[in-house]
Amino acid sequence: MAMNPIQFQTGMSLSELFKHYGAEGQCEAALEAARWPQGFVCPHCGGTTHSRFNEGRHTYWQCSACRRQTSLRSGTIFHGSKLPLCKWFQAMFLISQSKNNISALELKRHLGVSYPSAWRVKHKIMQVMVEREERRALQGDIVVVDDAYLGGEHQGKAGRGSENKVPFIAAVQLDGDGHPQVVRFDPVSGFKQADIRNWAERYLVASSHVLSDGLNCFTAVEQAGMTHQREVVGTHRRSTDMPCFAWINILLGNLKTSISGTYHAFVFRKYAHRYLAEYQYRFNRRFDLKGMLPRLLRAAATTAPRSEAWLRLAEHQCSSPDASEIWRIRTRPNPIGSLTSIAITTMALSAPRPRFPP
Ligand SMILES: [Zn+2]
Repeated sequence: MAMNPIQFQTGMSLSELFKHYGAEGQCEAALEAARWPQGFVCPHCGGTTHSRFNEGRHTYWQCSACRRQTSLRSGTIFHGSKLPLCKWFQAMFLISQSKNNISALELKRHLGVSYPSAWRVKHKIMQVMVEREERRALQGDIVVVDDAYLGGEHQGKAGRGSENKVPFIAAVQLDGDGHPQVVRFDPVSGFKQADIRNWAERYLVASSHVLSDGLNCFTAVEQAGMTHQREVVGTHRRSTDMPCFAWINILLGNLKTSISGTYHAFVFRKYAHRYLAEYQYRFNRRFDLKGMLPRLLRAAATTAPRSEAWLRLAEHQCSSPDASEIWRIRTRPNPIGSLTSIAITTMALSAPRPRFPP
């Protein structure tokens, strides 16, 4: 069996992590370089002339133009955290280098911090991923879209039409050979035409050609300016048997494995966008595993501070009236097979690589 060059690529090893980011000074230097690659820029007025001084353990930059002082962490996602930067770097390493997700509980054990600290670190890093991926738009001759669901605690109809799950749009951009390039997983309030149109206007380039399984709402992509091809799926024609849907089914299957294998109980509906973005962020950067930590650091250095209260309140595009309900992963199989945490309308883990007609 041939080795998959993506799966077997060299990532960042633990020894490299401690060699480059093992001391607090190294982490501070790395954060400074990530935040101000061309040298200090005042976050208040944009000035670059400055003086620098230490007070206690902390370094401050004072802008010569507006006289305001800035610390290394202020204005970044690290703002307000009492944890050493080394712990943050270890968390970013663990989150970025793992194939699957890592829970806050596991992070707590690896970092040697309290669970609340690990939860904040985990959600802040996931928020960085959300905001970084927010600006990503899919485009191309083939963008395959599908409706999917993150499963809830309560029993209900599986898949499409389920009342207990978080609906989300899954989309994958394929290249000319039918290979996946980038993906998006976005929670929506429902699969109405208005939801799809808003989503398409936001996350698809207008020249894209969209392929869907015939669910009526996806015709709304045409209103948003894209061309649309329907491959109708029904009782006698399953998407799992159709090569054009192979990759979207594989990705949804991998997403399900990643989430159900890691998280056993969390506020699912409320934070769905972060868990989806975490998987999306890693997948979209899978060609450069070694560079993922420095890239995540650059993103973190340019992401605004997020308090715990904000993190706990924030929801994203998921405006259902019962959004405050605690959602938990079901641990027993649902009616459509072995899926435990995600009800996905279709799945083909062993489907052949798709080839598309022009
Ligand atoms: Zn200034």
